[in-house]
Amino acid sequence: LASRLQGFGTTVFAEMSALAVATGSINLGQGFPDQPGPPEVLDVARAAIGTAHDQYPPGPGQLDLRTAVAEHQQRFRGLTYDPADEVLVTAGATEALTAALLALLEPGDEVVLFEPMYDSYAAAVAMAGGVLRPVRLRPPVVAAGEVSREPWTFDEADLRAAVTPRARLLLLNTPHNPTGKVLTAAELALLAEVAQDADLLVLTDEVYEHLVFSGAEHVSPATLPGMRERTLVVSSGGKTFSTTGWKIGWVCGPAPLVAAVRTAKQFLTYVNGGPFQPAIAAGLRLPDDYFRHVAHDLEQHRDLLVTGLAEAGLPVVSPQATYFGTVDVRPVQPDGDGWAFCRSLPERAGVVAVPTEVFYAPEHAALGRHLVRFAFCKQEEVLGEAVARLRRMR
Ligand code: PMP
Ligand code: GLN
Repeated sequence: LASRLQGFGTTVFAEMSALAVATGSINLGQGFPDQPGPPEVLDVARAAIGTAHDQYPPGPGQLDLRTAVAEHQQRFRGLTYDPADEVLVTAGATEALTAALLALLEPGDEVVLFEPMYDSYAAAVAMAGGVLRPVRLRPPVVAAGEVSREPWTFDEADLRAAVTPRARLLLLNTPHNPTGKVLTAAELALLAEVAQDADLLVLTDEVYEHLVFSGAEHVSPATLPGMRERTLVVSSGGKTFSTTGWKIGWVCGPAPLVAAVRTAKQFLTYVNGGPFQPAIAAGLRLPDDYFRHVAHDLEQHRDLLVTGLAEAGLPVVSPQATYFGTVDVRPVQPDGDGWAFCRSLPERAGVVAVPTEVFYAPEHAALGRHLVRFAFCKQEEVLGEAVARLRRMR
């Protein structure tokens, strides 16, 4: 393994999903839904197989999908992008992010981002020769057996200290995996000010944009004054349409930045997912009601999980968005080792979860050692059973 990839072994999701299968446990580790997406979307994909959609789509993605992405940005964010050269279809958000980093970073360029962070970020920055400058997110304080609805927060001083003269790019993720945090208007204003003062490019991962619960509102950093011109917005259809295996993603931004991403992207996958592209286009054009219902349904599942985890005696941070809740395992794992807790959970309770430690850079792992992430994007009966098992945990 090349030195730039040392330390990036197997993703935690592969390991934990394999553990769930091997032990017959309920998998609340890797975040994927166990219910099919909307029939309007699935039917289009079925009908597209066996047609010209089975062959290579155009390099930037099918024009109709790029148009649907632009319409969706206009409808939900009030952002205008030209499907001709400001929208690029990618193999999931993952490829969009990696291609953007490969396209935009010089070796040694610094990437400022919040930690914990989604696990592909550190590897993608490393592949691009960049350097991570993490800013710490702090969980709210919560007692055993209680649910906190307070968000994770960060210190302005930590953010400013992370921005050195080598800083090139601010990598944001809102709503945020694994914390479930949605950046507030005040936080976004500060981030926009810092990005503009330091002349940073902004790459924003918004794959959970529609999975936002009551009381919170998703705002794209690109909508703030002076930000559209320096921002690449990344999202994908996996979460919104319960099709995480389809890997249809996209990136929107000013033409020169999108052209740079396309240059890298065309030599990674060139194109992907022919029959799924028209299907995601149909999904993006569903009425507002669809998007409201997705979040509303998921919110009931969030409440079922966080209540159950609290009843199991854990301190719980209820997320404002996403598929994930976080617990502090110390009341049931006195050594505070979240990895050990996750490895023993199949035996203790027949459930699989993911240690939050994996979302930290190795040198900061201690900050997340006692935290564990549980996914709630599962059917009510499945979550109910998982919660019952956790309450009986040995
Ligand atoms: N970003 C975040 C924050 C994620 O949680 C995920 C995984 N669901 C991705 C990106 C990857 O998205 P995709 O499957 O579209 O590549
Ligand atoms: N994003 C999903 C999660 O955080 C998993 C994606 C993956 O398996 N790479 O659980």
